[in-house]
Amino acid sequence: MHDVVIVGAGPTGLMAACELALAGVSCTILDKRDSESNVTRAFGLHARALELLDARGMGDELVAGGNPLRTVYPAYASRVDFGRLDTRYPMLLLVPQNGTEKLLQQRAAELGVQIRRNARVVGLGLEFAYPPGEPDAHPLAGRRAADGPTDTGRLYEVLRAGTFVLLSDKGVPTSWRNRVRAARPLDGTRPEATLIRPDGYVAWAGDHAGIEAALVKWCGPADHPNGEGNHAAA
Ligand SMILES: Cc1cc2nc3c(=O)[nH]c(=O)nc-3n(C[C@H](O)[C@H](O)[C@H](O)COP(=O)(O)OP(=O)(O)OC[C@H]3O[C@@H](n4cnc5c(N)ncnc54)[C@H](O)[C@@H]3O)c2cc1C
Repeated sequence: MHDVVIVGAGPTGLMAACELALAGVSCTILDKRDSESNVTRAFGLHARALELLDARGMGDELVAGGNPLRTVYPAYASRVDFGRLDTRYPMLLLVPQNGTEKLLQQRAAELGVQIRRNARVVGLGLEFAYPPGEPDAHPLAGRRAADGPTDTGRLYEVLRAGTFVLLSDKGVPTSWRNRVRAARPLDGTRPEATLIRPDGYVAWAGDHAGIEAALVKWCGPADHPNGEGNHAAA
């Protein structure tokens, strides 16, 4: 079990993983490719990128394996002189992207980052299980809600509205519609429903029989008692 899962073992994902690992956050990277990349897209590294990599002890190693250009002539009679830059790396370094990735992968491995290949991410969702013998308790209670996709947009966009959000495939009971918004999980087969407070914490989760009690507890009495129990889709 890791604190963070990163999708994509390109330069961005690898660098983010190294930074997280340095901060003591465990992470794993998932990449859909079954092997390391052999493509060269980013082949030119500028001074600032090299300075940032240097801050993590990787600048000199990259320079040693690349081809530094001090001057380039982008068009007729024009000249860009990188050698005049006030930096440890006054150059444009030509190095294939997979070379940069190899170095970052090596560093990530040293820091304990796991890279799983042939692992295509197809979606995000909430996963939870009830503790044995405690059907009313929930392990997500009090934790920040996961940022999962819904068919009404990403969950955090719904949360940002500052209202209660019921994550459920049945929608919000009509009597609470003024105060509670609905977000439907992509996987509509789950029987569980989750009520998320405006501050992003999961306030309650359980089956639909418990929705009314949870709504009363967290949102107050129903606006229209006649609508109670109606789980019409919002
Ligand atoms: C033709 C071209 C030339 C370029 N030249 C330069 C240059 O000279 N200098 C420069 O600085 N930049 C250049 N760039 C840009 C550079 O390639 C990108 O900025 C860089 O690759 C971005 O890194 P990244 O890690 O964000 O994404 P990527 O390198 O694209 O890596 C994304 C990774 O995520 C994985 N992935 C994607 N979807 C999923 C999924 N659903 N599940 C699991 N894994 C997934 C992919 O397999 C891939 O390994 C160029 C780009 C192109 C296209």
